[in-house]
This record gives sequence, C-alpha cells and structure tokens, in this order.
Amino acid sequence: MSQIKPLIDHLISDTMLEDSNSVRGEINAVAWARVSTDMQEDRGLSLPQQLKEIREYASNEGIHIVEEYSEAASAYQKYDKRIKFHEMLKRAKSDTNVNAILVHDLSRFSRDSLRAKELMRELRSAGIRVISLNDPELDPDSVAGTYLEAILLAKNEAYSKDIAFHTKKGCRANVQTYDPETGWAYWNGGQPIWGYSIKRFKRGNDRSGKPIYKSIVVPDDTVVEGKTVSEWAKYCLVELAAKGASLDELRDFCNEHNIPARRGDYWHTSTWHSLLQPHALLKYCGYGVWNVHKRNGKKRPVADWVIVENAQEPLISEEIARAITDSRKEKRLLHSFDRGYSKSKDSPYLLSGGLFTCGRCTSNMQGLKKKGYGYYVCGSQPYRKGMGCGTAVYVPQDWLEDLVIDGLQELLKLSAASKSFVSRINSDIEAIWLSGTGCDTRVEEKLKQVESEITNIRNALLKGLDDITWANKKLSQLNHDKKQLESMLDVSGNPPLIDQDIAASYLTDLHHVMDKGENKAKKKFLRSRVRDIKLAPDRLQVEVTYNVPGPLVKSSIAGGGFEPPTSGL
Ligand SMILES: [Zn+2]
Repeated sequence: MSQIKPLIDHLISDTMLEDSNSVRGEINAVAWARVSTDMQEDRGLSLPQQLKEIREYASNEGIHIVEEYSEAASAYQKYDKRIKFHEMLKRAKSDTNVNAILVHDLSRFSRDSLRAKELMRELRSAGIRVISLNDPELDPDSVAGTYLEAILLAKNEAYSKDIAFHTKKGCRANVQTYDPETGWAYWNGGQPIWGYSIKRFKRGNDRSGKPIYKSIVVPDDTVVEGKTVSEWAKYCLVELAAKGASLDELRDFCNEHNIPARRGDYWHTSTWHSLLQPHALLKYCGYGVWNVHKRNGKKRPVADWVIVENAQEPLISEEIARAITDSRKEKRLLHSFDRGYSKSKDSPYLLSGGLFTCGRCTSNMQGLKKKGYGYYVCGSQPYRKGMGCGTAVYVPQDWLEDLVIDGLQELLKLSAASKSFVSRINSDIEAIWLSGTGCDTRVEEKLKQVESEITNIRNALLKGLDDITWANKKLSQLNHDKKQLESMLDVSGNPPLIDQDIAASYLTDLHHVMDKGENKAKKKFLRSRVRDIKLAPDRLQVEVTYNVPGPLVKSSIAGGGFEPPTSGL
C-alpha cells in the first residue's frame, strides 16, 4: 500500500509535467483590443493601455501571444464591417496553433450579447477559448453558468436594454439542414428505413484540413431478384399494402421472392407492422421524421416529432400512404395526412402574437397546424411561401412551449429558493450594471448642482435681476443639462436585481395560471415574464430571454412597458 502511492504520484506528476510541456497545455492566443469611437461610450481604456494589460496578464499566466489585433470602431458599426475583428477571428480559426483569444473584458469582444455568445460557443466548439482579463471563466454547462454567462455578456447592451436571462436550446434535429448540391436533408446517423440507403460525400474541410463528410438518404439501388430494393419497397407499398394486403401477406410475399430482410433473416409480421407505421409512411412520402422514439424504444407523442419536408426522394405519394393507413384502419393517425385539418378556434398558440420571432427575417412566428399537429413556423411561410426568408423550420408547439415554461420555472425556482444563487447573481448584476452603464456615480451629484443653479437663477429673478436675456439663455442651457443628466440617471439608477419574494410570487402565479388559466391568461402571463424568443433557423436553435424576476426597472430601460403580473391572473 505504501508502495503504490508514490508510484501513482510519480505517474501523475510525470503526466502533468508532460502535459504542461505539450501542445495541449500551452496557450497560444491572439490578443484583441477595441475602443469605441462613440463619445458617449468612450469610457474604456485606450488601445495601448488594453494591450499593455493583456501583455502583462499573458506573461504572468504563461500565455504566448501569437499576434495582437486592435480596432477603433463605432459600437454601432455593422458586424460585417468590423474588418479587423474578422481578420482576428479568421486567424484564430485557421491557425491551428491558436487556441485562445485574449481580451481585456468581454465588452471589448462584442457589444451584442447574442452575437457574442453565439460566437463564443462557435469558437469553443472549434477548440478556441475566449479569455477575459476581467470576467470569470464559467462552466457553460451548469444552469447557473448558463445564466451567468448570459448576464455577463448582457452588460454590453445595458444602454438600451436591461439585463435579462438568456437560454438557448437546439431544436434537436440538426439534420434539418439541406445539402446545397442535392437539395436533400442531411442524415444524422442510424439506419434508414428499408428501401433507402445512405450516400456519403465530402463537403469541404474542417479547420485542421480534415475532410468533412455529410450523408443524405437515397433510394437503395442494390439489385436483388431482378429489381432494386427501392423498387421492391415501392411495389410492396403501392401494389400490396395500399390495395389491402395484410401484414402476413406482405411478409409471405417478401419471403417467397427472396427479398433480403433488413437484418438478413426472414421477414416477420412485426417488420411489416413497423414499416406501415405513420412515421415510416411519412418517410416513404419524402419527409424527414426525427425524435419519434424515446431511448427506451417507446414512442413519443406525435407533437414532439420533428418533421421536415423534402428530406429525401419519396417512394410513394401521400395518396398511397393514405390508402395504406385507411386499409390498416389506424384511425387514430388518419388525420396526420389530412392537410385541411384544423380545430383551432381560439388561438391555442401561447407564444404567437409577437413574442416569438424569426431570426432570419424578423417575421412573427405563427401557429400552424400541419398534419394535425401544432407547429410554429415563420410568418413568411403561410403568407409568402417562404419568400424573403428561406426553408421552413417547423418548431413543434408542445416542445417549445414546454421549454419556455420549464425554463421560466427553473429560473424562478432558483431565484426563489437559492439564497446563494440570488446573492451571487445580484452582485454580478450590480457590477455589470455599473460597468455596463459606465455608471457615473457623480450623475446624481451633478444633477443636484444643476438644480441648485436653476434655483439660484430663479431666486435672482425674483429678487429683481434685470438681465432677463442672460437668465433665459442660462436657464434653457441648465434645463437641457438637467434633462440629459436625468436620462443618464434613468440608466444608472437601479439595476434590476432579483427579488426572492417576487420570484416566489411569480412562481405561484405560474403554477396557478398554467394549471387553471385559460389560454388568454397563459399568454398574458408568459408575455410579462418572457422578454422574447428568437428562432435561429439555420442553426435550428431557439433563444429564450426571460425578464429578471425582480421589481421592474423603468420602462424606458426595459424597453417594454410590461405590466407586472399579479396573483390570481
Ligand atoms: Zn423568417
């Protein structure tokens, strides 16, 4: 026993030594500095000062700086016009030696928190860390970490918006991207349904130069017994199943014609049972269908399925699928092929009406029944056939609504119950608020000064001052200053801190409304607690932004004019 410990220690310290000397442990960074050319925002350090601090930090931490980049630009400059910034990003991504970007603080990285987060995540997945001298590095996978990361970045927008919680969730099926050359959807693994096979091809290279392979699903053209497998599938579906053949008859036909079954053995009744299931028939009609089964093999509710149009070449028409379903007498799923089906009388879509928008074209996302199930789809789709936007992404209604409500509940629960979470976040919010607004604690002082000057002049006038022209001029100037200071006070006044009691009451309201409320009340409640929801159609992600569960900040900052919900909505 006493022998093994030194050995372990030895091995471990050896590995660690090795690591720190190897490429993996070394940090090679590009340094990034930015100043704003906007007068009102110019509260940061100068470029040389930022770079000096970055160099000092790097030398203390043993980080090697590969190259320094800097830019003086307006914060309102268009993203793609930030030439130096893109040069820096390009270098970081293409130079395999670079594994970090060093910044003085995150607001130098990007003032737009949404973009910054996307970018940081993108960089992280490419193996590049963004290291800030003045912001803690967070574990992005923890709940608190997600919120903290969001908050820390939100400061850069503090001039126009207040601090809010962002969360981001993928729409699960990242296969909803279409191959630009063939037009079919990418396949994300597993075995395709019988009658199809997988075609793999090269689509560009990754940053280390390795080729990237993508797959699509194509009709299986392997020839058996004089026909291709896809032709056999077509025949079985169109000529047999749609004309009323039973599962046993289909099984016997395949076995008699020596058509190889998927797993190489005989065809079973159960094989045909599963091939004629609605999700399978949808696939034969050319739809991509994902998220059908849970891990335990049980089926999810249909509303949870992710369905994509034109995912692969159809083998059968929808009429055939309908005929098969009819003959199978699976009435419960019959309506999934009835395009006109709609029972929406009183908009059952909790997030419609402007809360949920398309990140590609900014249209409102609309509730839409498709094949009997509820989806949110970009408003460009039903009205303009997607003109001005692009390929439709159907976001399952139940999935999104659950996500938004669960996220809100999680946030409120944490805020209402965890003192440490609240105090940690509140102190962060305060710090962010101060640095983000460049909060001038002297604003109040200056305002008092201006006010007393105004009073003095008024008093002087009352006491018979006769230079009215001077007094008027001076007064109008002072009033102008006063207004400006007051507007600054608006921003720097109150950070929107989390209030535990308010969070608790919102939580009660949430449960009450969701359990008992009508759709109208539910919609109203969600509108008051959720700032906005954005779909990023190309990344298949939704970004949900919640209001901080605290006393509402002045509406000029919150940008909303949301009314605080009261109990018993
Ligand atoms: Zn759109």
